[in-house]
Amino acid sequence: RAKTETRGSFSYFESGMDARAQSRRKIETELRAAIQRDVLQPHYQPLIDLSSGRITGFEALVRWPHPERGMIPPSEFIPIAEETGLISGLGRSMLRQACSDAAKWPDEVCVAVNMSPLQFRVGNVLSLVMDALKQSGLPARRLELEITETLVLEKSGQVLATLHALRALGVRISMDDFGTGYSSLSYLRSFPFDKIKVDQSFIRDLAANREAQAIVRSIVSLGKGLGVTITAEGVETEAELRCLRAEGCHEAQGYLFSRPRPNVEIVGLLQAQRDAADGTSSGKAMVA
Ligand code: C2E
Ligand code: MG
Ligand code: MG
Ligand code: MG
Repeated sequence: RAKTETRGSFSYFESGMDARAQSRRKIETELRAAIQRDVLQPHYQPLIDLSSGRITGFEALVRWPHPERGMIPPSEFIPIAEETGLISGLGRSMLRQACSDAAKWPDEVCVAVNMSPLQFRVGNVLSLVMDALKQSGLPARRLELEITETLVLEKSGQVLATLHALRALGVRISMDDFGTGYSSLSYLRSFPFDKIKVDQSFIRDLAANREAQAIVRSIVSLGKGLGVTITAEGVETEAELRCLRAEGCHEAQGYLFSRPRPNVEIVGLLQAQRDAADGTSSGKAMVA
């Protein structure tokens, strides 16, 4: 009897795996079609300079409008895109769209694009970026690429050479989600970063948590020493913002200022900022 039960639960377990595998395959098929039909689009979230309170640029975040499921968040399909190689097409499409959208924004406004470590492994990042800049007419100095610690940990000479070549073009490199990976201070010396984005897990409860404060304070002072911009991710409350200002953090991003928005809303957002600058310039008023 015990044997039957074991078998029963085993086959139940198997069919559960099956359902998951099937759902992944379904997402993969639909994602492939969505990339081919150019359905994926970037939404943009503002980056705020904390000394002036003004928008310096926007991060492009991929969105997948699905006919049945509504907007599917990247956490549900980026990992599948990376496992299946679809990330190459997805990444190329995001880069192109972000550059061509940003080329129509006012001249001082930058765009930041997330790059998967896998795109670097394929090895054509430099030519992809050069093509996207050329096609859009966006000056290289207005493009920022966000990479994660995973990439840096590979310590590959080819990756390092690509990052240096990108910087030689005038493109800036940001370290995304800083503090979440196997952080090591040594790579900050060998890799050419222009910006460090402090992961939102350190920003949460910043006002109440002395440890989080100490960590952010030391990252900010590290940034000053290295001549690197420090950006706080996921800022949601006025209290967090006050702490970040107190610690001398350069830049912030988060729902407190704005959620990611479609490109059609960006020009209006920038116009509102200009209008607000004519009246009161209270820092974030123009964005919220
Ligand atoms: P990320 O690059 O660290 O992007 C920041 C994430 O935090 C975004 O999630 C953004 O919507 C979210 N966020 C911003 N402000 C707040 C806030 O105040 N509170 C909270 N709770 N969240 C906030 P999203 O759009 O779901 O993207 C998740 C991740 O997916 C990104 O993390 C990035 O790693 C990846 N991703 C997004 N777009 C792309 C892309 O085009 N290419 C690649 N390779 N990865 C992408
Ligand atoms: Mg990012
Ligand atoms: Mg991040
Ligand atoms: Mg993240």
